Amino acid sequence: MHSLRTRLQQIDGQNYKAYKSLQGRYRFDHFELWIDHVQGDPFADPSRMRLRIPALTAALPTQSYVDPTCCLALEDFLCRCLAQSIAQHVKGDRGSGRSGEIQIASCGQQVLQRDALIVDNGAIEARIGLALPASGRRILGEDALSMLFEELPRLAQALQYTQLDTQALQNHLDCALDQRFLRAYLEQQNLVAFVGDGAILPRRSGIDDRPLRQNAVPFHAPPELAREPVLPCSGKIRGMGIPRGVTLIVGGGFNGKSTLLQALERGVYNHIPGDGREHVICDASAVKIRSEDGRSINKIDISAFINNLPLGKDSQLFCSDNASGSTSQAANIIEALCCNANCLLIDEDTSASNFMIRDQRMQRLVTAEQEPITPLISRIKELYPQQGVSTILVSGGTSAYFEVADRVILMDQYHAKDVSCQVRDLVSDAPEPPLTVPAAVSLAHCRQQTAARYLEGSRLQLGTRPKIQAFDCQQLRLGDYRIEMGHVEQLLEPGQLRAIGWLISQWACTATYDISLLEALQLALSRLDAQGLDRLSPYYPEPHGGLARPRLYELFAALNRCREL
Ligand code: ADP
Ligand code: MG
Repeated sequence: MHSLRTRLQQIDGQNYKAYKSLQGRYRFDHFELWIDHVQGDPFADPSRMRLRIPALTAALPTQSYVDPTCCLALEDFLCRCLAQSIAQHVKGDRGSGRSGEIQIASCGQQVLQRDALIVDNGAIEARIGLALPASGRRILGEDALSMLFEELPRLAQALQYTQLDTQALQNHLDCALDQRFLRAYLEQQNLVAFVGDGAILPRRSGIDDRPLRQNAVPFHAPPELAREPVLPCSGKIRGMGIPRGVTLIVGGGFNGKSTLLQALERGVYNHIPGDGREHVICDASAVKIRSEDGRSINKIDISAFINNLPLGKDSQLFCSDNASGSTSQAANIIEALCCNANCLLIDEDTSASNFMIRDQRMQRLVTAEQEPITPLISRIKELYPQQGVSTILVSGGTSAYFEVADRVILMDQYHAKDVSCQVRDLVSDAPEPPLTVPAAVSLAHCRQQTAARYLEGSRLQLGTRPKIQAFDCQQLRLGDYRIEMGHVEQLLEPGQLRAIGWLISQWACTATYDISLLEALQLALSRLDAQGLDRLSPYYPEPHGGLARPRLYELFAALNRCREL
């Protein structure tokens, strides 16, 4: 600590490069500071540092971190506290470029595994970025002193248990335990999703994931679908259980159908207290399926949906740099099946209508031989019960799926009603003849062909430490390559996309000829789970600080969208 102070006084006013000599470890009164990497200039990414608070000083109660679910929630909670105290205590703006900034990875509404802050046996380690201050390229020693000796100690102190809002922390942990319970409950009860009474589903805006503040109608389960699980922390609650099978969500426009589906999409992750979706839980393997015209497709077998393409184009190992609405949606389903998705979530708003249905008159005009598409409606029974893959489908504009639905939920002015009986009556009064389609290969076959394919990682010229950047959750840049991820809707934090980037670069270096792409990715994720996110850091053994664990589906989706493979 004294050496750091002396050193800073010595280099005051010198060229920015002199900051490099600060790299190292320093002991402060209540924490340790590790300066892992010093930025090259004040405009570059902030210097990577770690604040380490020993277990004795942190004084976290053991029961807050021994259980892995609690520990993850605790890390998430502390990360948010740190972000708050940065906003409160850090002056910022101390000169050129980013001088004065202190940052920690930002957290959305979900609790994810991140490497920004970890708790190891009660000791806290926060991975921050600190932009060392300069005027032009001249070191501002005084400002650096106040950042390191005034601001940092305040930040470190705010993480000690005695300084925390302990009630809020307890809620955070309880909430995580309740959600873990609900996930197990889904499994036990053969449900794919649960939506608790009182849940606030609408969001503040299309770009703000926080709950709508005014006039939000809380969710209330229809009696036919009501369940009453007893949670370990909150006790008995009531809510809607969606059983496995084909579930249809119908209703007038602007009545909350898509909002319900979006809440389910996000329900693959746990939410923080106050989000409104704490009790909205969906099978963790559920995948949102949408059409994505323009996406790149590389050897995905979509022949269960698409056949007899013009000009004799192959759909068994389908390739396209510019897929259509229907071929992209078909590819998205096969990808999800490869990743063992137990549930597909589909919204008419983002579906290709010719992929979803084909009505009687159109069948007369365009014969089966002329139409390459076997719409989803003729395949949906193959998903469930045959493959055990449930579907939750928003469909307000057509009754075509009435015949195949196991249950139908009507959204009426944001209230959910079970209209399955009415729908059954409608169907038996005037049944619609099933769509006749030429025999095509099975979904199981497409899944197997796609899962078994091998892609050559060495085709990606990435080198050992490529530049990897995530632009929000929209685009991943891997060296010179770009992967568009804007339509992969369950990717929620840029940290997940960065981790995907590093996983891909690892794969590109190590891919061998004896396992399929999918197997290689599954292996990479199980390694990540065994060794932790830090092992993925390009600076290992130093951590990255901006990574979050992605799901297998999003990782697979990224590689499948890589145009250079
Ligand atoms: P649909 O898909 O049925 O056309 P949306 O789900 O897109 O309708 O919802 C339409 C609008 O209503 C959105 O602006 C949404 O935020 C809002 N909304 C949805 N659910 C609720 C609710 N429970 N309470 C208040 N507003 C809601
Ligand atoms: Mg909608």
